[in-house]
Amino acid sequence: MRARIPMRSLVRVPWARILAAMATALTERYPDRPIPSVSAVARRAREPFPVLVATIISARTKDAVTGPAAERLLAAAPSPAALASLSETRIARLIYPAGFYRTKAGNLRAAARLLVERHGSRVPETMEDLLALPGVGRKTANLVRNLGFGLDGICVDTHVHRISNRMGWVATGSPAQTERALMALLPRRYWIPINELLVRWGQAVCAPLAPRCSECAAARWCGRAGVGRSR
Ligand code: SF4
Repeated sequence: MRARIPMRSLVRVPWARILAAMATALTERYPDRPIPSVSAVARRAREPFPVLVATIISARTKDAVTGPAAERLLAAAPSPAALASLSETRIARLIYPAGFYRTKAGNLRAAARLLVERHGSRVPETMEDLLALPGVGRKTANLVRNLGFGLDGICVDTHVHRISNRMGWVATGSPAQTERALMALLPRRYWIPINELLVRWGQAVCAPLAPRCSECAAARWCGRAGVGRSR
């Protein structure tokens, strides 16, 4: 199915006002909510390898689990060579209880080996090279490029996909379609920050089930497409 861009979105989306309203509401109403775990790892480490490790661990895993799991693994294996030298069993133990921890342990070890063998123990920055690593899809590759290298691209995870459709910016059936549609709509200066903003928005306000529409600072711009029960 081709991504459809709703006519409303083509008229004019006041991006600056909407995104500023979300950011202000998050700061003022939800000051105690932590930033997403991969963002926290990126701000502490300021290099691509920890971002890659944390992002692979984060798939289908709550932030409260991802952060500590990534820190445990990175403390034991701070470089690709060190990670490649660990057994899958050890990696799995270190990242437990992350979702699919055994599969991720295998992917992390195999990815670390490829980094050592093909990329001089460095994380590559091209989309093509990143997608060739085990356990790395477009979401992970874009986040590594965004947070590890400062390169633009839109990281579409479940929050970005859901909220972009609810708001009526896009009408898409998959994150890949949302990524393409947003790239055609969203001014480039927002490509990197949109992920962290919408992840935080999705965790605090626009939850998957029963979003908090009655207290939403972006409600006046939202089409609430597909929203059933809300608070
Ligand atoms: S109005 Fe409701 S559906 Fe729309 S962004 Fe706000 S919480 Fe989400």
